[in-house]
Amino acid sequence: FPADKIRNFCIIAHIDHGKSTLADRLLEMTGAIAKTEKNKQVLDKLQVERERGITVKAQTASLFYSHQGEQYLLNLIDTPGHVDFSYEVSRSISACQGVLLIVDANQGIQAQTVANFYLAFEAQLTIIPILNKIDLKNADPKRVESQIEKVFDIPRDDCIRISAKHGTNVEMVLQAVVNRIPPPAVSSDDPFRALVFDSNFDHYRGVVANIAVFGGRVRKGDKIVSAHLGKTYEVNEIGLLRPDEHPTQRLYAGQVGYIIAGMKDVKEAQIGDTLYLQEQPVKALPGFKPAKAMVFAGMYPMDQSEYPGLRSAIERLTLNDSSVTVQKDSSLALGAGWRLGFLGLLHMEVFNQRLEQEYNASVIVTAPTVPYKAVLSSAKLIKNRRAIQKNMVYIDDQRVMMKYLFPLNEIVVDFYDLLKSLSSGYASFDYENAGYQAADLIKMDILLNGRSVEELITIVHRDRAYNTGKAMCERLKDSIPRQMFEIAVQAAIGSKIIARETIKAYRKNVLAKCYGGDITRKMKLLKRQAEGKKKMRRIGNVEVPKDAFINVLKRK
Ligand code: GDP
Ligand code: MG
Repeated sequence: FPADKIRNFCIIAHIDHGKSTLADRLLEMTGAIAKTEKNKQVLDKLQVERERGITVKAQTASLFYSHQGEQYLLNLIDTPGHVDFSYEVSRSISACQGVLLIVDANQGIQAQTVANFYLAFEAQLTIIPILNKIDLKNADPKRVESQIEKVFDIPRDDCIRISAKHGTNVEMVLQAVVNRIPPPAVSSDDPFRALVFDSNFDHYRGVVANIAVFGGRVRKGDKIVSAHLGKTYEVNEIGLLRPDEHPTQRLYAGQVGYIIAGMKDVKEAQIGDTLYLQEQPVKALPGFKPAKAMVFAGMYPMDQSEYPGLRSAIERLTLNDSSVTVQKDSSLALGAGWRLGFLGLLHMEVFNQRLEQEYNASVIVTAPTVPYKAVLSSAKLIKNRRAIQKNMVYIDDQRVMMKYLFPLNEIVVDFYDLLKSLSSGYASFDYENAGYQAADLIKMDILLNGRSVEELITIVHRDRAYNTGKAMCERLKDSIPRQMFEIAVQAAIGSKIIARETIKAYRKNVLAKCYGGDITRKMKLLKRQAEGKKKMRRIGNVEVPKDAFINVLKRK
């Protein structure tokens, strides 16, 4: 394929605005997949993606499209929609010359529409605005076109109105891709240079890296080097993704495809890294940033006998996700475990869900924390307000965009849920890292019958300590069942108790309802009670259900 017949683009959108549905239509219309009911969100392969309706791993598809007698190669690069993965989005974007910016014609511009727009705008890509779901009764494409003109300064006439669900006007999208997006400005005569924008681990073949070729060509047997790690590999296989792997002899400048080169760990194919030929060293492509964990949590087996099983599950899952950091850890209450770092809370939840679904692992996850830089000096004098308003823009008469500076620990657990419920689902939210700020923070302990629960040690703002401590005690009281003895739940700062709740003594006798006779029924009830116990952790003499560790942080 000559480079001038190639178009590289991705689809960006706020969650649920129809990115995966449009991708399915584009795949069908170009013959990459058959038109059947079963083909829903073809690019979303993971079970958690289908269940949650989100894209976690980016997937890529090369499409063949003929337009006015010419054959085109359209490389569609799917991107994860969530802010936790914005670095992956930015790398996918840098492999493209254009984006389809989808906006729900009913909901209009939302937080991630804006965040994703800026990623594409800063990368100087051609932006094709698309209004989706025009089939909906409440769709108001005119209003949303005004928003796009006002917020993004894109002429309303550029917008294409479609229904991805019914396929309406999707042909116009393909034509716009060919007509409006420029071909990649690359040459096959240059030295080989490719961007790694995603990677997966395959048990039989090792790492499969997705690459965009920015110059030259590569073929089987070539010796290649990864610029940031400086390691050398031999190319075993290369090919196109349609969206399944189709091996080819060569990959040329402008093409997007996959490469297998004996890498054993996804950490060797870091997203954003550059590959080049050993005999023709070139400068790395700009924009590489190692993934940085922002949310940390402890993970422990339910029972120490499950430690080896959980260890291998975590090892295998991290083989596929280079952005998770793992460190051994241990706790008095929970035994040996790990401290894992994630890009954000969704990332952590998805990881946990995959551990449970794909590896059948049962895990205790401790309260997520965010990194602090502690300064051990006398002055922590600056009193910070917890949120500082930065600016406010009216998108139209019904919607306003506000920017705040927030401490990350204030938004990490339940801010999003709270915002959604306060605004009846209308508000949307996005964040980016703004660096470290000084604050007046203290350490708070939670005690169960006088014994500190290591997992619940919290760093709080001094002004919030009393309220937070009281709320945590109340929630713990609700999530710990009554036991044979009374339990004191206390919050303390140093030796000073600032809040207390009491769980009265009581023991559920599951056999009370059986009048002697039926032994099998008795056994069943005892078994169920034993299973209930398995989900408990013992702290001192108190049994704590495993979800109490996370419930305690959620507001009602
Ligand atoms: P994504 O999160 O951006 O990938 O969004 P999806 O493609 O998963 O779509 C989210 C929901 O919107 C799904 O229930 C789709 O069936 C629905 N949807 C997508 N496109 C349309 C459309 O054109 N019309 C209607 N009525 N629903 C749509
Ligand atoms: Mg999707």
